[in-house]
Amino acid sequence: MRLSDRAKAIKPSPTLAMDAKAKALKAAGEDIVNFGVGEPDFDTPENIKEAAIKAVRDGFTKYTPVGGIDELKTAIIEKFRKDNNLNYEKHEIIVSCGAKHSLYNIAEALFGPGDEVIIPSPYWVTYPDQVILNDAVPVIAKTDEKNSFRIDLKLLEEKLSDRTRALILNSPSNPTGLAYDGKSLEAIAGMAVKHDFYIISDEIYEKLTYDGFSHISIASLGGEIKKRTIVVNGLSKSHAMTGWRIGFAAGPKEIIGAMTNIQSQSTSNPASISQKAAVEALTGPQDFIPKMVSEFDRRRKYMVERLNNIKGVSCVTPVGAFYAFPDVSSCYGKSFNGAAINSSLDLSAYLLEQAKTALVPGMAFGDDRYIRLSYATSMENIKKGLDRIEEALAKLK
Ligand SMILES: *Cc1c(COP(=O)(O)O)cnc(C)c1O
Repeated sequence: MRLSDRAKAIKPSPTLAMDAKAKALKAAGEDIVNFGVGEPDFDTPENIKEAAIKAVRDGFTKYTPVGGIDELKTAIIEKFRKDNNLNYEKHEIIVSCGAKHSLYNIAEALFGPGDEVIIPSPYWVTYPDQVILNDAVPVIAKTDEKNSFRIDLKLLEEKLSDRTRALILNSPSNPTGLAYDGKSLEAIAGMAVKHDFYIISDEIYEKLTYDGFSHISIASLGGEIKKRTIVVNGLSKSHAMTGWRIGFAAGPKEIIGAMTNIQSQSTSNPASISQKAAVEALTGPQDFIPKMVSEFDRRRKYMVERLNNIKGVSCVTPVGAFYAFPDVSSCYGKSFNGAAINSSLDLSAYLLEQAKTALVPGMAFGDDRYIRLSYATSMENIKKGLDRIEEALAKLK
């Protein structure tokens, strides 16, 4: 069969093989601890569900404007004003079927053949493929744990060229859990203005921060950088709404307009019912968030401490999101029963088989020294999984 070059350019995610294996083992009755999940284990708050049920009962079940209903855009504008000190108008906002969809619309609206897009690694798995799907070139900038996994001016300068179209920032980050402070953002903003490239700022984990870390949106650092930034956010993580598919973006009206046209020819509007739920999520009571965050915080502290007490594992303390991202590379070169462990993929496969624990190899995020463990699962599971990992790693010789 002949498939498009575009389809052929996309690699199947290395995480999928692990996931399929974990699911197969679970289906076969194995007691698997799953640290692979990328969504809150909390249920969507009741008031949000009620708003959706009401939308159904009221017959709010038809097409809406492509880029979202006015009521929701107003709530999003208010969110940006209140949380980020950013002022937008309705034609600078688009609501999409998840933040991932907003990101995809941006890639389609901005990128083309020859364009280069700088992506700091470790990165969220989707960024490079969205760039490739739009015939542009992902330029990976490998950051270092010593630098809190931030891209600094030196690294950015190395990766810049006259084809640089955009830089994708994700703060707080999936997978590292680290985040950019105001000073680093100012330095990056200065470069974006000077060299005139766009910043795509994925701020989906904005609300999930710890140790008093306070999120700053790069777009809020001044008029010049705001003109060059598209901010992406959504409700999946902050309001435990991954299945509802509501994300949004804010930016220059020409770009948002192009994204809206693209969306009009692909998905049309996000689900009308989800939009009503999203209005409630943004304008209703917010006490659910600190409760969820404090539970994540408890698990975070426990997981990071346990990981750092395991020989051969070293884990920075994340300040956001719900992932631990330990360096496990000192286990490489060891073996179990004659089978060598030489990569994050080998180690993940070993831990799945020997420790019955599923996690994501760092290779998927562009750095093979690491593995990613999600703590969006119960404390009981976290204890069990870490006990097993500790035991399995002690067996490596
Ligand atoms: C989960 C996630 C998203 C997208 O979530 P949606 O469900 O599409 O809103 C975007 N970026 C990162 C880094 C994520 O982890």
